[in-house]
Amino acid sequence: MELTVTIAGAGLGGLCLAQRLLRAGIDVRVYEADPEPFARRQGYRITVDADGLAALRDSLPAELYRLALATGGEPGGYFRITDARLRDAIKLTFPATPDGGRQMDRQLLRSILLIGLDERVQYGKRAVAVEPDGAELVLRFADGGSARSTVVVGADGIGSALRSRIAPGADPADSGVSGIYGRTPLVRGGRDVIPDALRKSGVLAIGDEPGRAFFLTTMRFGQPPVAAFASAAPGRFVPAGDDYVMWGLVLRRGEAPTGDPRAAAARLATGFHPLVGRLVEGADDDATILTSFAVGSRPARWPLAGATLIGDAVHAMPPFGAHGGNTALRDAALLGAKLAAAHASGGPVAGAIAAYQDEMARYAFDAVDRSARMMRRITATGGFQKWLMTRVLPRLHRVTVADTVSETA
Ligand SMILES: Cc1cc2nc3c(=O)[nH]c(=O)nc-3n(C[C@H](O)[C@H](O)[C@H](O)COP(=O)(O)OP(=O)(O)OC[C@H]3O[C@@H](n4cnc5c(N)ncnc54)[C@H](O)[C@@H]3O)c2cc1C
Repeated sequence: MELTVTIAGAGLGGLCLAQRLLRAGIDVRVYEADPEPFARRQGYRITVDADGLAALRDSLPAELYRLALATGGEPGGYFRITDARLRDAIKLTFPATPDGGRQMDRQLLRSILLIGLDERVQYGKRAVAVEPDGAELVLRFADGGSARSTVVVGADGIGSALRSRIAPGADPADSGVSGIYGRTPLVRGGRDVIPDALRKSGVLAIGDEPGRAFFLTTMRFGQPPVAAFASAAPGRFVPAGDDYVMWGLVLRRGEAPTGDPRAAAARLATGFHPLVGRLVEGADDDATILTSFAVGSRPARWPLAGATLIGDAVHAMPPFGAHGGNTALRDAALLGAKLAAAHASGGPVAGAIAAYQDEMARYAFDAVDRSARMMRRITATGGFQKWLMTRVLPRLHRVTVADTVSETA
């Protein structure tokens, strides 16, 4: 029987898999719940690391991979863990190699991943169930429609509607930690709002309040997206604006606001360096969101032959360490390669899927464990680690950003 693949969810993982399968000449369809490709802001920038870049390189046509690199930020830089006054406790350096990690705007990356898939992605199709029918699987949608294929992949994110059927008992657990995320234009009054000392840094500042932290990083497009798309993909929609700072305020679930999240972030950020308050105050009005963090559970079994999961649908993880999206891309490239090999050799698809699941479970749940561990350390309410990070190590370093740094310095 001919190999046909249906993917639920046109996020980073689902689209990357579709690209990989298309390269292998496999008939693939993607069904997305949102009514159109950019119906909502799907987050801001993401740090794409060596694994994520390798997955994009393996899955995208070369010119689209080059477009992703060209519009991404400069490779390399620093990641700093600081105290609330932005004094360094730990500074990690990432080399600026051609394959080195970099910032990418998520909407722009999705736009690139959609190129060439137009006929194959359908919107307004919320998957609700998957069931076997003879040698095929039937994916059912909320609108009453259905699609048949030999393989079904749930790439429908953290709230996956297909997980309970494909990997029963693997629902993610609530972490008790939430985040308010925002996006602030990088340039105000003709000058960067981020001081030079932090130009190429991601920063995670540990607050004095129990469980409180603030994260910031800058998205500087390597090439202006409109110009880069005009030459590489003329006529395509470019969903990115100007350079910006993405920030996130980490808080305990009990503190999560019920009203305006930006006002809550401004109130909760008062104990931090004044730069933090200015970033929150200058944030885009419609782009501040509250989200809660979940920790994925290892699937114990995969009872539905021909069906599997990728990305957050199977291994949700808190956004500490920037692994979630990269792991979703890695899953897509790996599953795509296994299915492509089965397609080329006529080998068993079930074996290809099982091999993907074994390999994925190892690296993905290692990433889940690392990000959950990091979250626990960063949000510790006290103890030795917090004392070390906020009271001891920062005193050993020079001041990173003076408290008096001018509003537009
Ligand atoms: C603030 C923040 C910052 C982050 N930063 C980073 C980072 O720097 N690096 C990193 O690697 N990761 C990062 N992550 C994690 C990363 O965003 C996710 O891990 C990644 O988006 C997962 O991709 P996915 O394709 O599995 O799911 P998603 O991107 O969530 O895509 C799922 C898609 O499925 C659709 N869908 C949902 N339900 C259905 C349904 N029933 N039927 C059909 N379609 C459906 C959704 O509309 C969506 O389009 C961050 C996360 C957050 C919240």
